[in-house]
Amino acid sequence: METQKTAVITGANRGIGLETCRQLGKKGYHIFLTARSEQAGIKARNKLINEGLQVSFHTLDVSSESSVRQFAARLEENERTVDVLVNNAAIYYDTEHEASNPDFQIVNAAFQTNVIGPWMLTTALLPCLMRSRAPRIVNVSSEAGALNGMGGGTPAYSISKAALNVLTIKLAAELREHHMKVNAVCPGWTRTDMGGPGAPRSVAEGAAGIVWAATLDNDGPTGGFFRDGKPISW
Ligand code: NDP
Repeated sequence: METQKTAVITGANRGIGLETCRQLGKKGYHIFLTARSEQAGIKARNKLINEGLQVSFHTLDVSSESSVRQFAARLEENERTVDVLVNNAAIYYDTEHEASNPDFQIVNAAFQTNVIGPWMLTTALLPCLMRSRAPRIVNVSSEAGALNGMGGGTPAYSISKAALNVLTIKLAAELREHHMKVNAVCPGWTRTDMGGPGAPRSVAEGAAGIVWAATLDNDGPTGGFFRDGKPISW
């Protein structure tokens, strides 16, 4: 008998993370909706449950090693299988700074949440992912981190996303033999708190490319960078 697939999404109380939960939930996944704020996470979970989706909430601050370990230990305790991990949480679109004039507190915090967090969480969840017959990891990245398009500005954000892209390539190469697919996805400029009200894309459009990478068939790509299911340049 086919068991219900499970998906872990970080930073899922609002924005693209919440919408990714909704779209994967509609595809029949049991959603582990995670957020650093218990109150905001429970509110988001209840909203999706009211829409008829199967969702559980777990507190997870990806910038905290102890929070990541606690979350992974809880899943491991119950020998859970994780079919999909979406590393979505991110901070600091630092438009007010340049690489030649950075604020290193912001740089440190951005790296901790945008790169080290996904890295810690992915390795902590590997035993759960390895139980899946078709594990998928999606690192939600940004074209702001693309090497060819990287001009000045937003140094903490852009350089952390470039590092996340390199992490994606390395994990994909190392985990290929376990049938794991690891891809980076740019949602495009999307109307969220981060993207602002003037962005051209809806959250549904932004999340769709993430869901595409999370539900790839076995003959799908790994180690790539995509938007809307199409490769984009690193
Ligand atoms: P939002 O700012 O709207 O949401 C970010 C989410 O991340 C929030 O739920 C926030 O939680 C959470 N978060 C921040 N820090 C942590 C942490 N330490 N632990 C757990 N959760 C955390 O962003 P978007 O929805 O727009 O962005 C989602 C992803 O898409 C990000 O990776 C972003 O870089 C990427 N992206 C977005 C674009 C856009 O135009 N919107 C364009 C390109 C990429 P809290 O509510 O507690 O702050």
